[in-house]
Amino acid sequence: MLNLTGKKALITGIANNRSIAWGIAQQLHQAGAELGVTYLPDEKGRFEKKVGSLVEPLNPSLFEPCNVQDDAQVDAVFDAIASKWGKFDILIHCLAFANKDDLTGEFSATSREGFKTALDISSYSLTRLAKSAKPLMNEGGAIVTLTYLGGVKVIPNYNVMGVAKSALEMSVRYLAAELGPQGVRVNAISAGPIRTLASSAVGGILDMIRHVEETAPLRRTVTQEEVGNAATFLCSPLASGITGQVLYVDAGYEIMGM
Ligand code: NAD
Repeated sequence: MLNLTGKKALITGIANNRSIAWGIAQQLHQAGAELGVTYLPDEKGRFEKKVGSLVEPLNPSLFEPCNVQDDAQVDAVFDAIASKWGKFDILIHCLAFANKDDLTGEFSATSREGFKTALDISSYSLTRLAKSAKPLMNEGGAIVTLTYLGGVKVIPNYNVMGVAKSALEMSVRYLAAELGPQGVRVNAISAGPIRTLASSAVGGILDMIRHVEETAPLRRTVTQEEVGNAATFLCSPLASGITGQVLYVDAGYEIMGM
C-alpha cells in the first residue's frame, strides 16, 4: 500500500460516482493524501450539491468551483490553495469536453468553434492549471492528466477529441521539461474505454468497449479503481524517475495490431 500521508492533492473532474477522477480521489484518499476538490459550477448548483455529497466521506479540506475556461475561477482555486495549504504536492487534471455533434460523423465537419472549445477545455486547461500550480508545488510533486488512444490513432467518432488528446500529450512533455528542474513530474495515463458521462457523448462507445473486451490481452476493459491505482503510483515516490510519459492503463489493448 502506497503511503501519501502528508501530501496535499488537488483533484479536478469529478462529476459523479462513475468519473475516473472519483476513482483517483478514492485511491489517493486511501493512500493518506489530503484532498482538495474542484467541480464545474452550473446555474442551478446541481454539480456543487452532487459532487459535494459524493466527496464528503473523503473529507476534502478544499471544495472550490472551477470552470477551466474562466481564468478568474482558476485563479480563485489557487488563491484558496495558497491561503489554506500554502504549498501542495499533487494535481490531477481529469476533465475534457467537446460538443456532441463533433463526436460523431465526419471529422472534416468539425466547426471552428467546436475545435476551439474542445482544445481549450481538454488540452489548454492543463497548461493553464500548471501555470498557476507551478509556484505552489513542492519538490517531489506530480501532475497527472488523462488521455486516450484516440490521441495517437484514429478511433471512429473520437474526431476532434483525438486532436485535443494529441495536443494534451505533447503538452505533458513540454510541461515535464519545464517543471522537471524544480522536482515536479508531469505524466499522463491513457485509459481504456470506461462508461462515464463524458464517454457517453462519443458515438458508438458501447461498441468500442465491447471490441476492447473481445480483443485486449486481458479480454476486458479497465475500472476507475485501476486507473486510480496507476495515478496514485505516478504521484508517489515509487515513480520518482518517471516524467513526461504516457502510461497505458487499458488492459493491454494498445499493443495489439490485429
Ligand atoms: P466525466 O464526465 O466523469 O468527467 C469529465 C469531467 O470534465 C466532468 O467532471 C466535467 O464536469 C468536467 N468538465 C467539463 N468541462 C469542464 C470545464 N469547462 N471546466 C471544468 N471541468 C469541466 O468523464 P471521464 O470519462 O471520467 O473523463 C475524465 C477524463 O478521462 C477526461 O479527460 C477523459 O477524456 C479521460 N478519459 C476517459 C476515458 C473513458 O473511456 N471514460 C478513457 C480515456 C480517457
